[in-house]
Amino acid sequence: MTLHTGRHFLQIPGPTNIPDRVLRAMDMPGLDHRGAEFAELGFAVMAAMQRMFRTTRPVIIFPSSGTGAWEAAIVNTLLPGDKVLMAETGQFAVLWHGIADKFKLDVDFVPGDWRRGADVEAIEAKLAADRQHKIKAVMVVHNETSTGCVTSPLEVRKAMDRTKHPALLMVDTISGLGSMEYEHDSWGVDVSVAGSQKGLMLPPGLGFNAVSEKALAVAKASPSMRSYWDWQEVIAFNKLGTFPYTPAINLLYGLREAIAMLEEEGLDNVFARHKRHSAATRAAVKVWGLETQCQDPHAHSPALTGVRMPEGHDADNFRKVVLDNFDMSLGTGLNKIKGKAFRIGHIGHFNDLMLMGTLSGVEMGLDLAQVPHRGGGVLAAMEVLKGRDVVSMPKS
Ligand code: PLP
Repeated sequence: MTLHTGRHFLQIPGPTNIPDRVLRAMDMPGLDHRGAEFAELGFAVMAAMQRMFRTTRPVIIFPSSGTGAWEAAIVNTLLPGDKVLMAETGQFAVLWHGIADKFKLDVDFVPGDWRRGADVEAIEAKLAADRQHKIKAVMVVHNETSTGCVTSPLEVRKAMDRTKHPALLMVDTISGLGSMEYEHDSWGVDVSVAGSQKGLMLPPGLGFNAVSEKALAVAKASPSMRSYWDWQEVIAFNKLGTFPYTPAINLLYGLREAIAMLEEEGLDNVFARHKRHSAATRAAVKVWGLETQCQDPHAHSPALTGVRMPEGHDADNFRKVVLDNFDMSLGTGLNKIKGKAFRIGHIGHFNDLMLMGTLSGVEMGLDLAQVPHRGGGVLAAMEVLKGRDVVSMPKS
């Protein structure tokens, strides 16, 4: 095994790099989670998460992975046999569908080719045809982390409004929150699902549900079996700044710090930074002569770029060459694009020079792995990055 020096480049689209400030904030002794000091932290992170989701409604914080937060969205609002509409945008849509199956929901899965966002026209047509309002929820993935394609929750909401359909709108923004615009209230989302290890720059271990008044009313009336995931129980405890169980205290310290960092930068600047890095990455991919996994120019993710391998070349072999030689982890292709695509994460705690290092590693790796490509992608990315506002210029 080669001994690597310097920092590992973690360029998968989550878990993402954790800022030192956040690591230090979590390095704290134990705390009485039923005491006043904890309640201060509890109230602070609940309010901070409302700002992140852009909602005035409750945000439930679970000690869980994103998968737990997916399940929570389902068990609080839906019952076995309920019809739901989902869209096959990629592997994470497939996995959420899998959970829905386990809870015996009747899923209508709008097909997709994993190279664009959800087919909103098809969703609208299905809603329009559902005159008896059998569909109880429309469930979409905002940023499909397996492909790098975005679905606009607002466009889905508009389709629901045009058809006057009363279903709940549920959105997985696990890898969207904190890296691209998100508006839980004004986009009319009923349940938003997120996790800690992506744009929020934290370790894995926190799952979030932002819930609308309508979703909460549905949950209150629902006789579904649930305990740990029950929103109402958490909300009741949250009124006192606490949780019905021992919360992930140290992750919550980290969450408070991470959101402070994002707000110091300014959320609009955070989102613009992600877009710039995504544009620079695509400029490199284009010069290399490779294809992005996302084929819709309006749907490119600011958080990651999926890159297709030329026929006859295995993306995981290429990833191994990059890891072994340059100590950089790139994201693997998942499920049906395994071996056919790799993913470059440019999400979270990240800057221009980290992107240059990342793209240099990819370009050198393409050479070493003898993947047919043209050189000069890194230079093209540099041109995009130099298009920034100049911070300081010496006076002549
Ligand atoms: N949804 C999306 C879009 C994701 O990217 C992920 C994880 O990568 C998940 C859901 C699942 O979250 P977790 O792995 O934290 O359970």
